[in-house]
Amino acid sequence: MIDDDIPISHADLRDLFERLDRASMSGYQCRHTFAVTREFLSQRTLAVEPILEWLGENGAGCDCEVIFNTAPEWEEIVGYEPPDDTE
Ligand SMILES: [Zn+2]
Repeated sequence: MIDDDIPISHADLRDLFERLDRASMSGYQCRHTFAVTREFLSQRTLAVEPILEWLGENGAGCDCEVIFNTAPEWEEIVGYEPPDDTE
């Protein structure tokens, strides 16, 4: 069961998924860092380290893994609809 006690608001998490999806659609190549995630969190003055740690516990070690591993479990909870990339 998913623990709802998370260090980021649902709205911010939804926006983070969107930001990362947009980045990857516009050609961002993840170098297995949290470059985009860190930028997003610090722009919103959110707690970067606790959130990165939480993402790590939810399967993400870098920006692309947030989309691959974390988003599928959380997108419904936070109300995020991923772009249609079935082509
Ligand atoms: Zn990556």
